[in-house]
Amino acid sequence: MSGIIGLYTKEEKNISKKIYYGLYALQHRGQESTGMAVNNNGFVDYTKEFGLVHEAYNNETLDRLRGNIGIGHVRSSDTIENITANVEPLVIGYKKGALALANDGNIVNAKEIRDGLEDKGVIFQSNTDSEVMANLIARYHKDDIEEAVIKALETIKGSYTLVIMTTDKLIGVRDPYGMKPLSIGRLGNDYVLSSETCAFDTMGAKLIRDVEPGEIVVINEDGLKSIKFDDTKPKKMCLFEFIYFARPDSKIDGRSIYLARREAGRILAKESPADGDIVISAPDSGTVAAIGYAESSRMPYDEGLIKNRYVGRTFIQPTQELREQGVKIKLNVLDENVKRKKVVLVDDSIVRGTTIKQTVKMIKDAGAKEVHVRISSPPVKYPCFFGLDTSKRKQLIASEKSVEEIREIIGADSLAFLSLEGLIKGAGNDDVFCTGCFNNIYPMNIKEGERNEANL
Ligand code: 5GP
Ligand code: MG
Repeated sequence: MSGIIGLYTKEEKNISKKIYYGLYALQHRGQESTGMAVNNNGFVDYTKEFGLVHEAYNNETLDRLRGNIGIGHVRSSDTIENITANVEPLVIGYKKGALALANDGNIVNAKEIRDGLEDKGVIFQSNTDSEVMANLIARYHKDDIEEAVIKALETIKGSYTLVIMTTDKLIGVRDPYGMKPLSIGRLGNDYVLSSETCAFDTMGAKLIRDVEPGEIVVINEDGLKSIKFDDTKPKKMCLFEFIYFARPDSKIDGRSIYLARREAGRILAKESPADGDIVISAPDSGTVAAIGYAESSRMPYDEGLIKNRYVGRTFIQPTQELREQGVKIKLNVLDENVKRKKVVLVDDSIVRGTTIKQTVKMIKDAGAKEVHVRISSPPVKYPCFFGLDTSKRKQLIASEKSVEEIREIIGADSLAFLSLEGLIKGAGNDDVFCTGCFNNIYPMNIKEGERNEANL
């Protein structure tokens, strides 16, 4: 999972600070590494760092990175090697000049393409899909960069949103299924591209619209041009953006993430009522659904768990042992609110089951009479090949266990998941979503060799 930002300005100025604010707003999409590349009159300078945005950049770096076009990236991943070469944006020099590229998604046939290129003697410095794409674009670039990008896109398969920077253009791309989000904003006379609209608010930009699935937007001194490179595919937006990934103050394809989550909570209350005294959330990801659940079931919503704000998402801990410790560092119970009560605990999802198991135990240890767990998404049973961290099937607790078995493992008095229909209804009631991790129906055929379950 990643977050990407692109900014095109007509006059050269210190745009790196704006990109920095944008990346700050996208921090939830990736906490492991971040980078930024800026074009200054044909010279591309960049920086790549590990860690959080506020640690990665200092004034000196931001002052140095001046120019009129820039792109930035944040990444979270537990499979790709943590080496500097893998930190994006990827910056290359080739016969036509300099090019920088940053990606959110996963190209399932990247290995196959790379093997073919390596057989021809091409040397790779990173393990990223982005380097494969940059190579394709460079090879296909004869006269027209747009043609080269389209040819490269015809070769790749998977989910992606891209920001590509040349020395005079900013290019944004969303894959033909629109699996990942990418929006266009206006900052005065300038254009911004961002994975999520919440970054526009932070940067002082206004949302214009989303990049359409299968659309390329090319921004240069003449303004914004749109090219539809593939309109033969149905839209298949990742449902997990609505459940967990995106920030609640973002809008994807015109839909409010907050409203979708609240509605999911309301529908969950209708589908699976619980006999409780109080509704609490597993913060922060379960909070909006918990509010919806409480509202619909006419039960009081209150805080039951306090989160340490300074701890990142538990998932970013690479080993299971660290993840378990992580939950305790992250959450503590307000025993005065749960003691002797029948507690309904709402969370957005169960993936490995680690978080909820520890949380139920904590609430029981604090004296709750009963703990009824309600999850505002269906059981995650199948791997994601398109960029979710939930890739390794054996780690998914619901891949082999029934709801009753999971209830037993996590020690809850009852457990219920939102139905897929309920989830889709909450997110807008359209058939526009990728549901692969819930029902094994993926937007495209994934061949054996493509089941690399990577997560870029
Ligand atoms: P579990 O402990 O079951 O593996 O993780 C579930 C928790 O992690 C939920 O509270 C949910 O908010 C969060 N979560 C769900 N999916 C993802 C993901 O793909 N990445 C990250 N970082 N966290 C996730
Ligand atoms: Mg959570």
